[in-house]
Amino acid sequence: MLLFQLLCGEKEPAINGETMSNPLILSIDQGTTSSRAMLFEKDGSSVAVAQQEFTQIYPQSGWVEHDPEEIWDTTLKVCKDVLAKAKDMGRPIAAIGITNQRETTVIWDRQTGKAIHNAIVWQDRRTAPLCKELKDAGHEAAVTAKTGLLLDPYFSGTKVAWLLDNVSGARARAEKGELAFGTIDSFLIWRLTNGAEHVTDTTNACRTMLFNIHENSWDEDQLTLLNVPQQLLPEVKDCAADFGTADAAVLGEALPICGVAGDQHAASIGQVCFEDGMVKSTYGTGCFVMLNTGDKAITSKNKMLTTIAYRLNGKTTYAIEGSIFVAGAAIQWLRDGLGVISSAEETESMASDLSDNQGVYLVPAFTGMGAPYWDPDARGALFGLTRDTGPKALARAALESVCFQTMDLFDAIKSDGANLDTVRIDGGMVKNNWLAQTLANILDVPVQRPMQTETTALGAAYLAGLQCGIYQSLDDLTSNWQQDQAFTPGMDKADREQAIAGWANAIKRTRSTL
Ligand code: ADP
Repeated sequence: MLLFQLLCGEKEPAINGETMSNPLILSIDQGTTSSRAMLFEKDGSSVAVAQQEFTQIYPQSGWVEHDPEEIWDTTLKVCKDVLAKAKDMGRPIAAIGITNQRETTVIWDRQTGKAIHNAIVWQDRRTAPLCKELKDAGHEAAVTAKTGLLLDPYFSGTKVAWLLDNVSGARARAEKGELAFGTIDSFLIWRLTNGAEHVTDTTNACRTMLFNIHENSWDEDQLTLLNVPQQLLPEVKDCAADFGTADAAVLGEALPICGVAGDQHAASIGQVCFEDGMVKSTYGTGCFVMLNTGDKAITSKNKMLTTIAYRLNGKTTYAIEGSIFVAGAAIQWLRDGLGVISSAEETESMASDLSDNQGVYLVPAFTGMGAPYWDPDARGALFGLTRDTGPKALARAALESVCFQTMDLFDAIKSDGANLDTVRIDGGMVKNNWLAQTLANILDVPVQRPMQTETTALGAAYLAGLQCGIYQSLDDLTSNWQQDQAFTPGMDKADREQAIAGWANAIKRTRSTL
């Protein structure tokens, strides 16, 4: 315990013998398809990782749930695995950072810690009718002005309302203060601290549609609009802050939780996008482009979201974000749904075996379309199939769809006045060199891949390290970033234009309303 007090109670790193001076940071990365724990060195390299997938539950078309107990069990297991490795290495842990799938909504009983329903996942579209009702009633402009978001089922607010209205007795219990709402970070911290802390950070809060991003507080008008009782809500902190101490009875040792950020915000931090104008794009289950806009909260005219990149020492840095719901998930669908590939990695050689896309386009709107279309009722479609179309063309179309969707986001962000002249990429998909090169070709900007592509977990570790004094400033983090490879655009102009025209046609035919 003394060690943690030394490491986390002051800004100077504790130096007290070889082991004490060389602590690791435990990063918990609770993602959409798996829970992961990683141990990071001060220089941003990772020394241990444990990962466990968990069940995706699809109760109806467009609905996606997770079992909170499975989220917790897998998280606990991976944490224990890497903590055992740290012990084997004789290395102490300075602090915990947490990053998580955002918007995913859990409501639990404050007494028992048990969730009252499965978590409703960010991809879930069940609240589309409520969003439409609110939009038709003319509320969207006010919602955007306060929260930076659009009236879409993606965000937590309408999911909270759905749970309160559909789980028997939930609303009455919420009003009596018996229940707690949280995004996954909040739920994990509650469990890690044995119910001592009901907290979240500003980046997770800003995705709930209940949080005013300009005033940095829960918004009473939003709570009234969505009929959400204040008693449900966690306390909102900076991203690097004291989030409580993980109980020794839970992890086997008491460890301070010092950093929290939603996954895309953490990735931006891991990519050290600290300057106004820096942009990163992350490719996991979905794809998320985030552009740092400094201390200005810019309202998009093109349906991009305004979001909080991070808040440190009470100072908020804003970003513009575009979210695509299906990126790597299209590859998973090829593997698990269609069975035309046996591993995600195969798609690289399959796509490069073909000299062109054979006119095949996949619009993977499996759970509707995100930015810039925001069409929750659209569903996926494949175009251009012939008798010759085989698995290779499908693999290529899936990878290309990721590039075209990113291009749509870039076009929208550029129309808002940003100058996007390079992009830093990360996430599980970017190991795929064909994807990275095609992205550069389609976007027509250089693409930079860092050595450490686990930027989400790294960002959470950086936040924890800032809070506990391993790092003194953001400059310490910036000097850690190293390029692995740059991909330069190299596509013939006419070919590019033809490919883009094919995509535009496919999008037009997929939208639910023309
Ligand atoms: P998340 O954090 O959202 O769970 P990850 O960042 O771990 O996702 O990335 C996993 C996703 O990347 C999966 O959807 C998988 O299909 C995809 N993926 C992993 N490796 C490759 C690859 N070599 N080529 C294409 N897609 C890949």
